[in-house]
Amino acid sequence: MTVAPARLRTRKADQACVAAVDVARAAAVETAGPTEVGPHRGYQAEDDRVVTHFFECLSRGYRGWQWSVTVARASRAKLVTVDECVLLPGPEAVLAPPWVPWDDRVRPADLGPGDLLPTADDDPRLVPGYTGADEELDPDAARQVTEELGLGRVRVLSPIGRDQAADRWRAGTGGPDTEIARAAPYPCATCGFLVPLAGALGRVFGACANERSPFDGQVVSFDHGCGAHSEVRVGPAPAIVSEPVLDTFAHEVAAHPASEVAPLFGSKVAGDEEFGHS
Ligand code: SF4
Repeated sequence: MTVAPARLRTRKADQACVAAVDVARAAAVETAGPTEVGPHRGYQAEDDRVVTHFFECLSRGYRGWQWSVTVARASRAKLVTVDECVLLPGPEAVLAPPWVPWDDRVRPADLGPGDLLPTADDDPRLVPGYTGADEELDPDAARQVTEELGLGRVRVLSPIGRDQAADRWRAGTGGPDTEIARAAPYPCATCGFLVPLAGALGRVFGACANERSPFDGQVVSFDHGCGAHSEVRVGPAPAIVSEPVLDTFAHEVAAHPASEVAPLFGSKVAGDEEFGHS
């Protein structure tokens, strides 16, 4: 294992602090034990008369980590003292991936039957759904009042939530930048199967109600489109390139067994009665 030397000289290192390797090592050994502290791997000037020394960590559970001992010296003093001693990841340390909050991690497909995905009271995508004056109400009080009055939804989409949805939908499979939309003969805006949404989003989006379209039941933008547009028509029949030729001189002999013809014309009584002829 190799640990890259850390000699990031962003400022001039104090030479007394640089020379205090043994002081720094003693602090690391005191903290971690003599078997855990490896060779000196370098130093880094932190400030005037403040230097951090790095020692390889020999613990098998911390490969690539370094004991980092910061030493300092007071102005005009010769004595170098230990400021702190910590174990820090080096350039080759094995680290866990950055932590991502659960609400950033969860994806639409993660929501299964019976799952609940709560939204925070201060979710910026939502605003109280009754009047503008009520927006300053405490969310719990607002919910209680709304439920008592039976006004329906406690919150509705905020401008932020609406804009985010619009951006998402336009960039998705129901937006204009897809192969099928670019190849469509007409846009959804002129399609009879488009059911516009209510509210501000209805100026740009609607739901496709064509069961023959792959977007049936999905939100599509007005400038989306597909080949199942309501105004797509079957073209005219191919033009006849030449008149039919009637040959009145030649004739063609075809097999015509009398046995197959007889039942139709031979049994007059049965046939007439059957079809009600007089
Ligand atoms: S059928 Fe096609 S063009 Fe018509 S609304 Fe649906 S996706 Fe748009």
